Amino acid sequence: MIRNGRTSAWTCPTTTGAGSSCSSPARTPRRCSSPRRYELLTGHVPDPTALNIVRARVYTHHSRVAARFLDGRICLVGDAAHLMPPWAGQDMNTGIRDATNVTWKLAAVATGRAHPRILSTYDTERHAHATAMLGLSDTLGRVLSSTSAGAARTRDVLLRALTRAPQVRDWLLEG
Ligand SMILES: Cc1cc2nc3c(=O)[nH]c(=O)nc-3n(C[C@H](O)[C@H](O)[C@H](O)COP(=O)(O)OP(=O)(O)OC[C@H]3O[C@@H](n4cnc5c(N)ncnc54)[C@H](O)[C@@H]3O)c2cc1C
Repeated sequence: MIRNGRTSAWTCPTTTGAGSSCSSPARTPRRCSSPRRYELLTGHVPDPTALNIVRARVYTHHSRVAARFLDGRICLVGDAAHLMPPWAGQDMNTGIRDATNVTWKLAAVATGRAHPRILSTYDTERHAHATAMLGLSDTLGRVLSSTSAGAARTRDVLLRALTRAPQVRDWLLEG
């Protein structure tokens, strides 16, 4: 369960399970039936029926990075360059960093303050970073969505212990 900023809105990514009524073989997101939403939350919160569920969607995610972000006059930024699973909340953040990286370089070249070869650093800098963020997201996903009861228990005990330290708790909640 992920708190969105300092508000009382929470995001709760949960796996639907193979063959369940909410699993989606198609790429098109489908709605998750109301009883099934509460069933999926059982074990995560004391009383799922007490929750006001604002939205529940079934969607798939991908782990992909383009071979290169720059080819001649074509520059890939954001989801066109990389697709990540949601676990680390890094896909849009990575896209914003892409845009920040390439736009000042383009402006510098266009105004004659930098040589055009500076643009090639966009690919080397951003490709490596996006690949690292994808690795982080995949690793976090394996930890958060473990289907092994023992591994999940160990993770929960460890995280509960770690979050007793206010600094660690703040770091985890604020990302
Ligand atoms: C459920 C969910 C939760 C997420 N949570 C997070 C999170 O917590 N943190 C995070 O960092 N990221 C998150 N993301 C990822 C984030 O939403 C995307 O990484 C981000 O929106 C990508 O932005 P973008 O501008 O690169 O691409 P898009 O948002 O896909 O924008 C591309 C735009 O181009 C338009 N377009 C497409 N083809 C054409 C065309 N031929 N001509 C003109 N226009 C066209 C599309 O209509 C669209 O408006 C989440 C995604 C999902 C689905």
